[in-house]
Amino acid sequence: MTRHALISGASIAGPALAHQLAARGWRTTVVERAPRLRDEGQNIDVRGAGREVLRRMGLEDAALAAGTGEVGLRFVDDDGAAVAEFPAGQGDTAGGTAEMEILRGELSRLIHERTQDTTAYRFGEQIRDLDDHGDGVTVRLAGGEEIEADLVVVAEGTRSRTRDLVLPDAEVTELGLQIAYLTIPRTADDDRWWRWHSAPGSRSTSLRPDNRGTTRAMLAFLADVRGLGELDRDAQVTVLRRTYADVGWEAPRVLAALDDASMYFDAVAQIRLPRWSTGRTAVLGDAAWATGPFGTGTTLALVGAYILAGELGDTTDVTTALARYEQRMRPFVAQAQDVKPAALRAMNPRSAAGLAVQRRVLGLAGSLSSVFGGLVEKLASPPADAVELPDYRLTA
Ligand SMILES: Cc1cc2nc3c(=O)[nH]c(=O)nc-3n(C[C@H](O)[C@H](O)[C@H](O)COP(=O)(O)OP(=O)(O)OC[C@H]3O[C@@H](n4cnc5c(N)ncnc54)[C@H](O)[C@@H]3O)c2cc1C
Repeated sequence: MTRHALISGASIAGPALAHQLAARGWRTTVVERAPRLRDEGQNIDVRGAGREVLRRMGLEDAALAAGTGEVGLRFVDDDGAAVAEFPAGQGDTAGGTAEMEILRGELSRLIHERTQDTTAYRFGEQIRDLDDHGDGVTVRLAGGEEIEADLVVVAEGTRSRTRDLVLPDAEVTELGLQIAYLTIPRTADDDRWWRWHSAPGSRSTSLRPDNRGTTRAMLAFLADVRGLGELDRDAQVTVLRRTYADVGWEAPRVLAALDDASMYFDAVAQIRLPRWSTGRTAVLGDAAWATGPFGTGTTLALVGAYILAGELGDTTDVTTALARYEQRMRPFVAQAQDVKPAALRAMNPRSAAGLAVQRRVLGLAGSLSSVFGGLVEKLASPPADAVELPDYRLTA
């Protein structure tokens, strides 16, 4: 009998799971609250085990072809002159810029395209409540429809609402890092480098190339205030204008574009849960284990989807499969969540003196990249290949 999985969230984790379950003969439905596939965000890098998963999904070449063409990371001073440069990595894991550097929205679109013939996507919909009756789960959608499923997977990201219905004891730890991701018009001066400028007050501005004719800007700052992510867009824009009012380099240009730019605001947080499933419902991706900054979220989402689908395979014992998924993923997640507050502060210095030290260290790291560069890379991105990927059989 065909089993049915209802997945909530159509970013990376949800569609990747749909892909892997469909390949194993499952019927899959994905419910997404947004009216269409979301396009916001910037470059994410897919490394190590995450890239291997894309390879096994048959998507590696497509993802490389859809890359942003970013050539590396360049730290700049107030005049835009280079302080240090880290060229893009050539393999699966190395470099501040990974070899596979793709817009989050592009990767989501690729996985969505590969699954739209095998998965029923329901945009503009969300789960209102659900009832696990042992043999299955009855899910009621906000629009009133009732759906029966053998498995429900919540892949709704850090601020997941459905997670709070089924596993209400999530610990949400905001790290004090606030990031606004914006898509702004490209100018003739925007090159293929990811350019990063830091200003005193733990404020940074960065510009990255994309493959869509625009530029991806990021305003990131440390602030002890919590809850900025819950403010409405106008209030967030006001906070950004005030915070960056005296910052130089390209910040005025980014502020000028704020009103028209598509924006994704992230009050960076980690999620910790004592368990990742209850009965026939599981959490996956950022909803289960958001790790915070440094871009490990997408790699973990891909690996988690692969392992969850692999453990479910053709078994009818869903709860045992969910327990094994958790057992395999926990160590990998624990490692990625080991974010040192000192590393956040070192990357976002508060005082002018701290900034001067950072620039000296970066300059040294850039010129002796084989010695210090590895250290900087380690700070910038915790290991992404620290998980053994099992060879699951395809049963479809
Ligand atoms: C718009 C957007 C832009 C991002 N940009 C970046 C970036 O630039 N850099 C970076 O490192 N990371 C970014 N991220 C985070 C990154 O995508 C994740 O860390 C990682 O890919 C894991 O993804 P996920 O699928 O678990 O969760 P997410 O990517 O957070 O996706 C969750 C999905 O669930 C949907 N959703 C939320 N609530 C509900 C609900 N109640 N019902 C149904 N659907 C719901 C959301 O609309 C979203 O599509 C972004 C996420 C989003 C949603």
